[in-house]
Amino acid sequence: MRRFLLLFVLVWCALHSEARNQVRVLLRVQPETKQFWCRYTLILPAEAASPQVLLNLNRQYRVLSVQSPRAKQRIERYLYPVFQDTMQGINLRYAPQDRRAKEVTVTYEGTLTAKFATDQVLELSGHTNWMPLLPYKEYEIVDYTLDVQTPEAYSVISTSLPTKQHTGFYRFQGTTCAIELTALVAKQFHRLASSSALPSVVVYKAGGPLLKMDSLLLSESERIIGFYNQSIGRQDAIKRFSILLPNTDRDAFAMLDNATVITYPDFDVRELEYRTTLAHEISHKWWGYGAFSDYNDWLNEAFATYSSFLYLRSVGDTASYRQLLNAKIKSATGAPAVIGFDKSKYNYATYRRVIYDKGSVVLAFLHNRVGDEKFFAILSATAAQKTATTDAFLDIVAQEVGEETRHWLKAELTR
Ligand SMILES: [Zn+2]
Repeated sequence: MRRFLLLFVLVWCALHSEARNQVRVLLRVQPETKQFWCRYTLILPAEAASPQVLLNLNRQYRVLSVQSPRAKQRIERYLYPVFQDTMQGINLRYAPQDRRAKEVTVTYEGTLTAKFATDQVLELSGHTNWMPLLPYKEYEIVDYTLDVQTPEAYSVISTSLPTKQHTGFYRFQGTTCAIELTALVAKQFHRLASSSALPSVVVYKAGGPLLKMDSLLLSESERIIGFYNQSIGRQDAIKRFSILLPNTDRDAFAMLDNATVITYPDFDVRELEYRTTLAHEISHKWWGYGAFSDYNDWLNEAFATYSSFLYLRSVGDTASYRQLLNAKIKSATGAPAVIGFDKSKYNYATYRRVIYDKGSVVLAFLHNRVGDEKFFAILSATAAQKTATTDAFLDIVAQEVGEETRHWLKAELTR
């Protein structure tokens, strides 16, 4: 019996590791002119085979070639609502009975806009929209190899350390969301590392000198990760974390691969707004598995928002916890239900009210109902299981605190 079980486990693992898409990227950059050239290869396993494959690529980039054995290809401009009207579609058609694994290589080139390139740095990251992506699968997990070639004077930073490196060449490998392959390219990165062994936190700053603000950012990040590792992340703790500061002045966002990108040049965590943003972004390490194109996005955004409030409360700032929560309660009043919310039918402000604000209010109510101990048990189980659907979350709630609370919570999310 045990042998059969072992065999079953081995076969299951083999099937499911093969089922992941593989990505291989060769990226050549010219920082002086902000231009890049890229050869992107996507390998779709046989299990995912479909007679048609569509890849979106930023319309600003020029496709040089598309290669895929056995496919008929067509490239056309079309409207992909998730990224507004910015995409070109690369259509590949195979014979209907073709159930084999598929390999697609797209070679293209382009120039980064001022949002993602300065005289100091090129930022090819999760917000740059620099790679071909499968529609609605931008956040699907892939195994990747990213090779970056630069002129000699430049170096490259990613979310993890390079697995291979020599002058003008860097290789990064790992597993993360398809959209999040990252290369920051600059002549100089200032590095600031934590003194504690675990978690090991490193700040990388492109260009400009390190400021007091940056060391405060490092120590605040250590405190935040320390709190999360004992609470929401206690079954899946952060051991290393990278904070990337490209200085491109645009936004801040998190990545699944234990990293965050903060582009603001004035990011001072002594300000409540920035401290909360940092705690929100770091918590996305655990809150990144709900589909971002439907209401399950509340599993990402409401959870990250409420996690940041929990951090403030943990350091004794209950006044800010109350103040921020009250603002969310006010904003959520009268907003549409979370379950079933169709973001394509509402404006961005309503999306924020429902997915960020109402979602975090519901979590606060749940917290209030079950108490600290049970609430953190629910959050850490939700995080460890990489929960992707509201139903799966409701199941965890039922397991931890019972059916009655599941019904109550479902009603809160539906009204
Ligand atoms: Zn977020």
